[in-house]
Amino acid sequence: MSGRTLFDKVWAAHEVVAETPDTPAVLYIDLHLTHEVTSPQAFSLLKRLGLPVRRLDRTLATLDHSTPTLSEQVFGNVPIKLDAAAHQVRELEQNAAEFGVELFGMRDARRGIVHVISPELGATQPGMTIVCGDSHTSTHGAFGALAFGIGSTEVGHVFATQALLQRKPKTFAVNVEGRLGAGVTAKDLILAVIGRIGVSGGTGHVLEYRGAAIRALSMDERMTVCNMSIEAGARAGMIAPDEVTFAYLRGRPRAPQGRDWDAAVARWRTLASDPDARFDASVDIDASLLEPMITYGTNPGMVLPIGGSIPERAGDAVFDKALRYMGFHGGDTMLGKPVDVVFIGSCTNGRLEDLQAAARILKGRKVAPGVRLLIVPGSQQVKRDAEAAGYADIFKAAGADWRESGCSMCLGMNGDTVGAGQYSVSTSNRNFEGRQGKGARTLLASPFTAAASAVQGRIADPRGML
Ligand code: SF4
Repeated sequence: MSGRTLFDKVWAAHEVVAETPDTPAVLYIDLHLTHEVTSPQAFSLLKRLGLPVRRLDRTLATLDHSTPTLSEQVFGNVPIKLDAAAHQVRELEQNAAEFGVELFGMRDARRGIVHVISPELGATQPGMTIVCGDSHTSTHGAFGALAFGIGSTEVGHVFATQALLQRKPKTFAVNVEGRLGAGVTAKDLILAVIGRIGVSGGTGHVLEYRGAAIRALSMDERMTVCNMSIEAGARAGMIAPDEVTFAYLRGRPRAPQGRDWDAAVARWRTLASDPDARFDASVDIDASLLEPMITYGTNPGMVLPIGGSIPERAGDAVFDKALRYMGFHGGDTMLGKPVDVVFIGSCTNGRLEDLQAAARILKGRKVAPGVRLLIVPGSQQVKRDAEAAGYADIFKAAGADWRESGCSMCLGMNGDTVGAGQYSVSTSNRNFEGRQGKGARTLLASPFTAAASAVQGRIADPRGML
């Protein structure tokens, strides 16, 4: 019998009832993260059935998707502009109070994007099962957790039972050796992986990112990689916990402390895939060959090295439709295309290291005339850290708009949107039609590329600006 993968070990430790050909497995959930958009229906279900939230100690709520990012709306008395957003915020506040769920409310210093704050607090830990009503829950896999998004109905199930019905996914090794070059980031790496295996390449699988290039990444970078696993169609993405993981978690408020810490680290060390573990699928990538990447279409798999040209695919109606929406043509080069908006933020690239990267490019430079640069920290903690490090001053001096934390222009639910027909270089994770606003044209890239493009007013290669 071959050894077990990281995924196999976490799954086995949480399987309450094994799956059969007719029934899915029952999986115990260690941590349930929730926010204002996918929770109302779930709370309504509990009310209808007269049920409490079963494990309040394993449930954590924050406000992020619909929250305003203007300081006067968060901390002043200026009301939230969008009725729908204001309603969602109020509803979660009421539901959390009624059910006793811990909520990081609008003015809480710990508030932020759900996938940023949980790691920041040390609530996300290796070997856990973590769910949230949001696709990018895969982010937490960076810690060696099995973490995935669930639908609103499942949010209700987890509230009521702390368990979930699940079919067991297959395993997929993404082996990345070599070293990333200067100006090439974790975002470029994951975009290259998605470009290589395609947006459904990971369907039915949990990806495990492995190899020297992955081990060399910081936790912020690992979170960027795992965050976008879902964009390759995968159920989740995972990275084996190691010294980098332990150093990140040590001393965080919700991480184990004292003797519990030593016991936890000893346990976490056993989680790595066994040397003889077999994966159902694999791909090999040489990090040293990667370049800054940029998308040109309407899914993250439509991606190119920044100096490349859009492929020509005569007779491919879906491809043609995507290019028509983007206003591009086969054979076009991406470098030098004009840009209207640049967004730096989101659960993919709204952490301190992402803002540090943006600050490296923006220091002593100005945003090009006519370009709007919006920089939104992933959490209030990231905001405070970026201000203490002087990054916020660099952003403001460059002409950027520096905001309070939230999902913001990743999906525009709070009113931070891109205009119809405008081009937006965005560090977020989805470039679907209308994701950043009706008719908006999104180009996904790293914080380096986004900041460089804001300065040039055109899609720019950041490597000449570092
Ligand atoms: S930043 Fe975007 S992808 Fe991340 S949780 Fe918010 S809406 Fe979802």
